[in-house]
Amino acid sequence: MAFINTREVVHCRGNPGLRRVAITFDDGPSEPYTSRVLDILDEYQVKATFFMVGRNVEKFPEIARGVAGAGHEIGNHTHNHSSLLLDTPRRIAMELAMGEEAIVRGTGVTPRLFRPPYGANTRWIVTQALRRGYVITKWSVNAGDWRKASAERIVRKTLSRVGNGAIILMHDGTSLRGGNNHRRGTVSALPLILDALKTSGYEVVGVSELLGLGEFSSENVQSSKGT
Ligand SMILES: [Zn+2]
Repeated sequence: MAFINTREVVHCRGNPGLRRVAITFDDGPSEPYTSRVLDILDEYQVKATFFMVGRNVEKFPEIARGVAGAGHEIGNHTHNHSSLLLDTPRRIAMELAMGEEAIVRGTGVTPRLFRPPYGANTRWIVTQALRRGYVITKWSVNAGDWRKASAERIVRKTLSRVGNGAIILMHDGTSLRGGNNHRRGTVSALPLILDALKTSGYEVVGVSELLGLGEFSSENVQSSKGT
């Protein structure tokens, strides 16, 4: 296999010369948090990117469809959200394929972005994702909202690290099987973050747009895949 420079194929931020950022939500859909996030994004007229877990799409298909219908970008975050670190290439390929199928079935959208669970980007994970035609995306700003942080802490952490081209990692769902990890902090923090970004002159765009891949729409995703 040809040598892959992970740093070149795993995207963590967009053009540092442009005052734009992308906000991403991982591990959903999950209720009531995904719906609350959608309402806030709608109120602020902002498009975000949702890295969905296939298993959760199957659990909340209407919500997943609502995310797509509102014009937000959807990425693949695997089907079961296992770490993939110790998985075989075959198993990794299966997680990618199953997650993708669940998203296509649930939303009608074929995702072109992939975010590995826990940001793990081993050679095998990267190879399998590229083979399936994915653009691999991590983040540059971790809002730290995955462990039930307070809204104040999430806001402070995000704003202290944000800059041109930032990709902000937040969570609208949980990867835990029980699903009891609430996202109240995220929901309360989001309007404050959006206010501050606006005041600072940032434009909030989808990840595809931030990375210069063209604006996301279900049509251009379908036709760009495999070319
Ligand atoms: Zn995750």
